[in-house]
Amino acid sequence: MKKPVLLMLATMVAVAGNVVLAQEVKREITRVTFDTYRFQNQYHMNIFVITGDGVVVTDPINAEAAAWLKKEIASITDEPIKYLIYSHSHGDHASGGTGYGDVPNVIMQQNAPEDIDLVEATERFSEQMTFSLGSKTFELTYLGPGHGNDLIAVVVRPDEVGFVVDAVSSKRLFYRDFPGANVDQWIAQVKKVESLDFDILVGGHGPVGVKRDVAQGLAYLEELRAAVLAGLKAGKSVDDLKREIKMEKYQDWEAYDSWRALNVQGMARHLTEIGAVQ
Ligand SMILES: [Zn+2]
Repeated sequence: MKKPVLLMLATMVAVAGNVVLAQEVKREITRVTFDTYRFQNQYHMNIFVITGDGVVVTDPINAEAAAWLKKEIASITDEPIKYLIYSHSHGDHASGGTGYGDVPNVIMQQNAPEDIDLVEATERFSEQMTFSLGSKTFELTYLGPGHGNDLIAVVVRPDEVGFVVDAVSSKRLFYRDFPGANVDQWIAQVKKVESLDFDILVGGHGPVGVKRDVAQGLAYLEELRAAVLAGLKAGKSVDDLKREIKMEKYQDWEAYDSWRALNVQGMARHLTEIGAVQ
């Protein structure tokens, strides 16, 4: 079922043509390993895996994206889509699962809502779940509360790919002001990702990276926390801190210009809320 690389490239060129002619949306499929692919829809990414006994897909992103991807997968392999794994239930990643059609196995974390945009789970798990299909094993791990309360990481073996959405990305600042989140819980989620064993990091956002990018993301958060806490304890205003805490080491990361000050603001809000500032 595996087509040679050249044929895959031809498909990608055709895909690019479609984008220009028919859509305003940037959609692109790239090959991460021999059987694991990344799908980009604008600023959102998912992975899908061709196992030899069916395809495993992840976050639909939205109905149009999922329907488009389903068609593209059919041009790469004859294998049917057998599993759909949701990273978490946030609408920007998890909407439109019906676009994949009727998928026999749908996996969500225990805390996910009864249905995610009309798609119901066939299996749920609380902490960890492992299943095999064809030549691949999928290790699903709950990351705990923080960014959402139903966020999981997916590790694909033997490809050693980790698919991690929103908790941490490769060389990319954290989302705006950590909306609605306890940032210390969020940090614990990143530590959980760090504890997993994989080589290649595919984020729900940002570029494809490697495992050590997780440690860098964690270092960023811890440095940010320490700097904001020190500033608040010294009696500085949040506006002062937004100006002063530059996090220069990270200025080449994605979203540095747009989200650095928001990251400072969100951290200050969190530290104030938990009473860390005397
Ligand atoms: Zn999210």
